[in-house]
Amino acid sequence: MDLNHLTIDAARSAIQERSTTSVALVESFYSRIQKEDSQIGAYLTLCKERAVEQAERMDRMAAEGKSLPPLGGIPIAIKDVMCTRGVRTTAGSKILENFVPPFTSTAVSRMENAGAVILGKLNCDEFAMGSSTENSAFHPVRNPRDTSRVPGGSSGGSAAAVAADMAVVTLGSDTGGSIRQPASFCGVVGLMPTYGRVSRYGLIAFASSLDHIGPLAKSVKDAATVLRAIAGRDPMDSTSADVPVPDYVAELDKPLPGLKIGVAKEYFGDGLDSEVRKAVEDAIQTLAKLGCEVIPISLPHSEYAIPAYYIVATAEASSNLARFDGVRYGYRTKNARTLSEMYRRSRNDGFGAEVKRRIMLGTYALSAGYYDAYYLKAQKVRTLITRDFDEAFKKVDAIVTPTSPTPAFKLGEKANDPLAMYLADIYTVTADLAGIPGISIPCGETREKLPIGLQILGRHFDEATILRLAHAYEKAWMNGASS
Ligand code: GLN
Repeated sequence: MDLNHLTIDAARSAIQERSTTSVALVESFYSRIQKEDSQIGAYLTLCKERAVEQAERMDRMAAEGKSLPPLGGIPIAIKDVMCTRGVRTTAGSKILENFVPPFTSTAVSRMENAGAVILGKLNCDEFAMGSSTENSAFHPVRNPRDTSRVPGGSSGGSAAAVAADMAVVTLGSDTGGSIRQPASFCGVVGLMPTYGRVSRYGLIAFASSLDHIGPLAKSVKDAATVLRAIAGRDPMDSTSADVPVPDYVAELDKPLPGLKIGVAKEYFGDGLDSEVRKAVEDAIQTLAKLGCEVIPISLPHSEYAIPAYYIVATAEASSNLARFDGVRYGYRTKNARTLSEMYRRSRNDGFGAEVKRRIMLGTYALSAGYYDAYYLKAQKVRTLITRDFDEAFKKVDAIVTPTSPTPAFKLGEKANDPLAMYLADIYTVTADLAGIPGISIPCGETREKLPIGLQILGRHFDEATILRLAHAYEKAWMNGASS
């Protein structure tokens, strides 16, 4: 079977109709991984035995004539920040290099309950901190569209695996843009659901009030299918919302006319690459041709989003990462003489430079005397940003922006300049701060054939509308309507 362009529907019906088997599909993905991944570096761990077992289960169901569940037999892979029972889970960090969790995260078990077959765990920036996947303690990931460039981050492995046909779909996590930005750099679809839509139970925490789990996929429909499988209240995560989960796939083809889309001037200012600007403006034209009303809006506090994000995220990270002390999980230094030396040396050897930088920043922002000046102030800014969106969504149903100000940059280009790296998130962090959903879909290419991403943001818990817009745009784009 041609793994290129293989979507969930195509694979599932082939397995159901017995024109292939899930086991055969799994085998062909593993041979592709073996052949290609030495150049890309998307995978950290493979779990073939577990995969074949689940694939055989799905094949038996199909052979017995039973109808397969929505992801029955589909080969997928998981960002290595979600715990998988019995399968090493590293968070891209040396401190968890040999950590084998005793339980599985809710999102992953929901994927498996829906029939998905997990091929392995995907490389990422250490503790999901980064925008290029160069912060992985193991090795960087390369962009399958141009291997001299980064795949984006922190879910770089998740985006690259889909782009290089090394999984049908993958799960990533997004704290400041880490699903949408790599999706845009690699030319795939990336969906960040509303905060609370998907349980975070078993997700290794970076910044708890900002962390989201969501799919990276080849099509909007596949992303909708995965969201339907993983969304919904989970008693194991008190912040997961008890809000009904619609049938996203059934709503994809609802007509667009009447929908209002907002275009915020703050997302088209200085620093936006001219080819990205042109592609996104063309995409807005296409949506207008499809019947959407385009309305200029303003999100006036956007310029404060990066500083506010880097205070809130680092503050929460410094507290979440306190648990890695060499006692309970993972790496412990061998030759410490006292308890405090053991803590210090385990953390010093186990964490990489970016993680240490953030622990220091976050600890500083939370310390007595500075808390009001930094952390409290950042939380106030966060409220203002959320209000900007509330106001905008009184006038429009969705907001359309570029996903990232530039296409994929070269490996090493920003590695020694943390501030330049942080600016890669300028269009994505606002949605995390406000807790609203966002999707990135391909909308063009630069002259150098680098993918460009279009971001669509929606109201809280209204993933259905952004999926519908994205789906209509994707169809039009494939038919060449935007050219
Ligand atoms: N690039 C951002 C950061 O470094 C976002 C990371 C993420 O979304 N996990 O914090």
